[in-house]
Amino acid sequence: MTPTSLNRKALILFSGGQDSASCLAWALTRFEHVETVGYAYGQRHAIELECRETLRRKISQLLPDGVRKLGDDHTIDLASLGTLSETSLTRETEISLNENGLPSTFVPGRNLIFLTYAAALAYRRGIKHIVTGVCETDYSGYPDCRDDTIKALQVALNLGMEQRFVLHTPLMWLDKAQTWRLCDEIGGARLVEIIRRDSHSCYKGDRTHKHDWGYGCGNCPACQLRAEGWRRYQESL
Ligand code: ZN
Repeated sequence: MTPTSLNRKALILFSGGQDSASCLAWALTRFEHVETVGYAYGQRHAIELECRETLRRKISQLLPDGVRKLGDDHTIDLASLGTLSETSLTRETEISLNENGLPSTFVPGRNLIFLTYAAALAYRRGIKHIVTGVCETDYSGYPDCRDDTIKALQVALNLGMEQRFVLHTPLMWLDKAQTWRLCDEIGGARLVEIIRRDSHSCYKGDRTHKHDWGYGCGNCPACQLRAEGWRRYQESL
C-alpha cells in the first residue's frame, strides 16, 4: 500500500449515537474511504447497533461522494466486556453516581479497549486514521474520554504495533450544542434532522418516547445531556 492511499482511509468508531454519527459525517468530508466499526458488549442500549445501518445509508447519501466513499461496516463481539463489568450500561440497575464520583454507567477502560480493537482492525485493513467521538467538554466524567488518555493511547498503539496511526477526536473540545452546529456546517438542516431522528443515545435503549431532541427515556444521563445540548443549540439559532 502506498503512503498516499494509506493516508486517505479512516475507520470510525461508530456506535449509532449522536457523537459517532457526527464523526461519520465529519470523516466523509475529509477522507476518501471511510469504514465503520461497532461493538456488541451486552449494552442495554443495543438498539444503538440497529440504528447504525440507517445512519450509514442516510448520511452517505446526503454528503457529496458519500456513497462512493463509505466502505465496510464491522461489528466486533465484545461480550466478555459486559460480563467483566457490573455497570448500569450492562445490567438492569439504577444509573447513579458511585462513591468515586463516576457514574454507574462507567465501563472501566471501555474506550481503551474499543480503540485497541479498532487499531488492530485498522492494521489489518491498511487504514491510518482512526476517528472517535469522545469528548471532554460535555461528558459524563469518564476518564478514558480525556484528551490526555487518547494521546497516550495513540503513542502506545503506535509503539506496540509499529505503526503511525492518527487518533482523531473532532468533538473533543465541543459541547453538545456545538456538535449540532458542526453537523449543520457539514450537511445543513438535513444532516441535523437525520442525526436527530435516527441516532440513539439513551442508555436504556428507549425508542418509544419521542422528544424534540430525538428518541429516548428522557431521564437517563445520556438523554439529559442530549436534551440540554439540543436546547442550547436551538437557543443559539
Ligand atoms: Zn434515556
